[in-house]
Amino acid sequence: MTLKTWIKTITFYELLVGMKATMSHLLHYRPITLQYPHEKRTLPDNYRGMLALLRYDDGTEKCVGCDLCEAACPSRVIRVVSAEEPGQPTKRYSKE
Ligand code: SF4
Repeated sequence: MTLKTWIKTITFYELLVGMKATMSHLLHYRPITLQYPHEKRTLPDNYRGMLALLRYDDGTEKCVGCDLCEAACPSRVIRVVSAEEPGQPTKRYSKE
C-alpha cells in the first residue's frame, strides 16, 4: 500500500468526493421535469416524429420490405427484415 493510498483510506477520500457531488447537486438544484403539455421541450430540427408503417383498410401494412428506408436512414435506426408470403413468392412484407 502506497502512502497516497493509505492517506486516502484513513481520510475516507471516496466518501468526501461523493459528499462533494451530493452537496453540489443540492446547492445548484435545477428542476429538469417539464410540466407537459403546458411546457414542451425543444426538439431538434431534423426530428420527424415516431416511425410508423401505413396500413391498408384491411389492416395489412403497406410496406413491401424493399429496404430503401433502411438504406436511406442517415442515423441507421431503421432495420427491415423482409419475408415472402407463403405460397405467393411475388408478395413480400416486412417481417420485422
Ligand atoms: S422497406 Fe421499403 S416499403 Fe417498407 S417502409 Fe421501408 S421503404 Fe417503405
